[in-house]
Amino acid sequence: MQRSDLVATLLVASGMNRLWRRLRRARGFPVLAYHEVDRETVEIHLEVLKRHYRITTVADACAGIREEPHSPHNRPPLVLTFDDGYASWTRNVVPALSQHGVPAIFFVCPAFLDGETLPWFEVVERYLRLYPGAEVAVGPRRFSCQRVLDQAGERRALFRCLKALPLEEHRDVVRQLETQLPREEKDAMRKRCLSCDDVRRIRGAGFEIGAHSLSHPILSKASLACVEEEIRGSKAWLEALLQEPVRYFAYPNGGRADFGCREVAVVREAGYTAAFSALPGWNGQDVDRFRLRRAVVAPRGSIHRLEIAASGLLGRLEDVWRWRHD
Ligand SMILES: [Zn+2]
Repeated sequence: MQRSDLVATLLVASGMNRLWRRLRRARGFPVLAYHEVDRETVEIHLEVLKRHYRITTVADACAGIREEPHSPHNRPPLVLTFDDGYASWTRNVVPALSQHGVPAIFFVCPAFLDGETLPWFEVVERYLRLYPGAEVAVGPRRFSCQRVLDQAGERRALFRCLKALPLEEHRDVVRQLETQLPREEKDAMRKRCLSCDDVRRIRGAGFEIGAHSLSHPILSKASLACVEEEIRGSKAWLEALLQEPVRYFAYPNGGRADFGCREVAVVREAGYTAAFSALPGWNGQDVDRFRLRRAVVAPRGSIHRLEIAASGLLGRLEDVWRWRHD
């Protein structure tokens, strides 16, 4: 069991999480961020979440903050979001959400649709697995693939260094890795990407589509012209595909170092209604709708970890210990 799962179990078993949820639910709501997820996990998570929360739209959740506090007997609202654009959403996520009758927002990067461009983080992951004996050079540092695969701290350091590079340098590193991937690997990666038809189908099933930039750069490391293109361009692209306004944006990566006032201003001016970060914690009365907080759900985390992510307790602990990616 991972250390973070063990801590989560202790917090749930001791009643701490229940107490925390009770204290927090007077006003406010959590948002969860998923990426690629299997059907069984979605089903289990929905069962658990519906016990404690009312899964709803972000418009409804935001409207509720201004009203009377949730009564102790009512479940607080919770918003579900899915990031990046995986073909498996149409098999694993959309049918489960439809069956449970709950809404969600799917944030997609147009460049990744149909695998036109391979997601840079998937290229890095695939390279690490294919070439464990190799090294990845990022600026002055060299990372052994094997050590990155074996040690969570080393993995964090690699991705931290990659994200800290100026965008052009970052793209050069990823391009270098991608050229070394065999064609069949790239074909397999393309098949994992959502298609344009999938996006239309997800919207047709009643779910919201949001923009997640064109190609998922770390916006704070890009030029203003690039930031404008990524934020405005992804909105325009999706609006042309769907023939309707795209109202929501999710900052790529979404951490404190990944976006700032400049990006928030561009998002506002582009005409979005709200934007989502990956800063943990609940959205309370003082909510800034262009910096909505979200808890990222660990792909293989335990149910207890999901519970402390949704309650906001995980976010509070992450501020103290940085063990999200352990
Ligand atoms: Zn993303």
